[in-house]
Amino acid sequence: MNALTEILRARIAAEGPLPLDAYMRACLLDPAHGYYTTQTSIGAEGDFTTAPEISQMFGELLGLALAQSWLDQGRPAAFLLAELGPGRGTLMADILRATRAVPGFHEAAQILLVEASPRLREAQRARLAGHAPVWVDDLSNLPPLPLFLVANEFFDALPIRQFRRAAGELWQERVVTATDDGLAPDWATPAPQAALDYRLGDTEAGDVVELSPEAQAWGGTLGQHITGQGGVALIVDYGDARSFGDTFQALRHHGFADPFASPGEADLTAHVDFGELARAALPATATRLETQGVFLERLGITARAQALAKGLSGAALDAHVTAHRRLTHPEEMGTLFKILALTPPGQRPPPGLQPGLTP
Ligand code: SAH
Repeated sequence: MNALTEILRARIAAEGPLPLDAYMRACLLDPAHGYYTTQTSIGAEGDFTTAPEISQMFGELLGLALAQSWLDQGRPAAFLLAELGPGRGTLMADILRATRAVPGFHEAAQILLVEASPRLREAQRARLAGHAPVWVDDLSNLPPLPLFLVANEFFDALPIRQFRRAAGELWQERVVTATDDGLAPDWATPAPQAALDYRLGDTEAGDVVELSPEAQAWGGTLGQHITGQGGVALIVDYGDARSFGDTFQALRHHGFADPFASPGEADLTAHVDFGELARAALPATATRLETQGVFLERLGITARAQALAKGLSGAALDAHVTAHRRLTHPEEMGTLFKILALTPPGQRPPPGLQPGLTP
């Protein structure tokens, strides 16, 4: 049993079984034993690899899409260029390099990073030296400026609650209990859940759905700010327009692990419910959910890949071709990963996206 297991068992003895979101929050963010506080999460030596770490093309194209929206919105002379969960800083570095040629964009941008992990803040500081980034814990006290924001694989890390439909209109919530030798998942007594009334029509007994109060809170803040001040949010993650089934998972050393063994030592995630995010962001407008593969193709990834390939040969060329495929192919990240943008009501969607998800 690791130290966090002992701490959580003591907490369960005092408070009763933990809802999944409380468990997830402790595993990821506990100041002494949490995953993001103690582990090397991203990259070959870590537990998972992300799109910006696979190829510079991902950040370049997202950066140019942001810059086009900035042009479409009249080139505001001061704006926040922000990222939620910037990891090793690679995505923002690629955005900044790709947008160097957009006149006025860098001069107008103030770089704002939202990062919970002290280790990753250090990595970002090193990577983005020269761009004077500012770090914040959340978006609650932003200056009144347009917000041009990206978030890649941020929302999947936010704690979820999970429910199983019981008889009639009742739901059982997923909880974590103490066993003789550790922790294990269980289901609480069936109860009504007003927050899930809208799912009564498309689920039946035994079905599992998830919701994320934290994702709703971030979506709400983003929607309010973008509606009031202008800007755009580009949100990329695995998930769908509506939550269905158990998607809670642990990743360790690039493979799946038991999410209830060794808490704090594996990355815990769940699929993103983009519909929930879009509703929370109202009155901001959400674009139609698009797959990452189609979005990157529309932005011209094939032409960019060919241009980069001209300078490569041998193993470097092979790696580049593999990276292009990983980002876009339906059997790799192309279909599982989706992109949603939030814009002020009435604004043109960013390039590669169409109006339409907002109910
Ligand atoms: N966007 C990066 C990293 C994705 S991993 C990439 O694509 O490579 C998830 C990131 O979100 C990490 O930087 C993690 O530390 C951060 N994060 C997770 N939960 C957070 C929270 N509640 N508040 C702030 N940052 C968080």
